[in-house]
Amino acid sequence: MLRFEHAPKGEWQDVSQEDWQDWRWQLKHRLTRLTDLEGRIELSEDERKGALLAQTRLAMAITPYFFNLIDKNDPECPIRRQVIPRIQELERAPHELDDPCGEDAHSPVPGLVHRYPDRVLLLVTDRCAAYCRYCTRSRMVSGNDEGGVFRPQVDQALDYIRAHPEIRDVLISGGDPLLWTDAKLDRLLGRLREIEHVQFVRIGSRIPVFLPQRITPGLVDVLRKHHPFWLSIHMNHPMEATAEVKEACGRLADAGIPIGNQTVLLRGVNDQLPVMRELLHRLLAMRVRPYYIYQCDPIRGTAHLKTTVQAGIELMQGLRGHTSGYAVPNYVIDAPGGGGKIPINPQYVEELTEERVVLRNYEGRIFTYEQGQAVT
Ligand SMILES: *Cc1c(COP(=O)(O)O)cnc(C)c1O
Repeated sequence: MLRFEHAPKGEWQDVSQEDWQDWRWQLKHRLTRLTDLEGRIELSEDERKGALLAQTRLAMAITPYFFNLIDKNDPECPIRRQVIPRIQELERAPHELDDPCGEDAHSPVPGLVHRYPDRVLLLVTDRCAAYCRYCTRSRMVSGNDEGGVFRPQVDQALDYIRAHPEIRDVLISGGDPLLWTDAKLDRLLGRLREIEHVQFVRIGSRIPVFLPQRITPGLVDVLRKHHPFWLSIHMNHPMEATAEVKEACGRLADAGIPIGNQTVLLRGVNDQLPVMRELLHRLLAMRVRPYYIYQCDPIRGTAHLKTTVQAGIELMQGLRGHTSGYAVPNYVIDAPGGGGKIPINPQYVEELTEERVVLRNYEGRIFTYEQGQAVT
């Protein structure tokens, strides 16, 4: 079931290798309408209605490359679940929100979120190569007009960062910043680098996974100019770990760019331990360090993709100690209302007193660490 070789061209077998490897060709040929799916894949009634309605809400867009990873014979294919809309997206449970992480309330400038004391999130675009159906920013991405049109104010955001010397870390995201041209990215990174107190710059992007063709040698040359530069990618299932992605990550890693991965815990995608373990191992093989596993945000219309926190904790328990420490990410909930990322850990401390700590190891065995004489 799991693939690790070049994706087959399938439906597009008449396309030249050159076009297929061209990221602009991939963008131009994205599947964005119900009629693009019809004839290529058999849709359920829920998906058909979902694809129709996606034009009025969070848009549908799937690159041919990513669409080709779908197992067409599996109606519950984990790739399919991430990018093909279902009518359930229109349902809203009472606890579900449009802005689940409370970003708008922490936004001093449109497109800038200043939640933590020493770092900011800079949203530079509302467009992505493809749209994840559980998008935490579905209120503003893809040009849908629900929350008004999103117009990032990059100049104003840079002024704000300049005026706040406590900001030492800028996370550029969106939308997907790597949709910008090389020249535009170069300029933005250069302007950030000119700010003395900004020590650390990173981009959050799913493009290495949705559109690995974008990671051209030219782009990598631009990014490496601005070291220390880090990248967070977003991979959810081992089927996404293709030869193309491995090549793209290899190019980035060769340029000295440390790569982390963020995974969203999704029902029917990666909520089973063997699947998650396989994903994490494949990331390590691509020189990508698993960084976060997110509990799915309580975003409107995602109930069909959510798992329980109990299931997430159990998953973490099945990882720690059972596999390489480097393969074990932090499991977090981005707290509704703007509390930030809060770690959710299995309980390993059974008892903690001034004298000792009683610990449970990964096998469930109990150990005691004596603190000795407390220093007073
Ligand atoms: C996730 C996030 C960051 C970065 O958090 P790290 O834990 O440092 O990766 C910064 N600002 C906002 C608003 C975020 O959501």
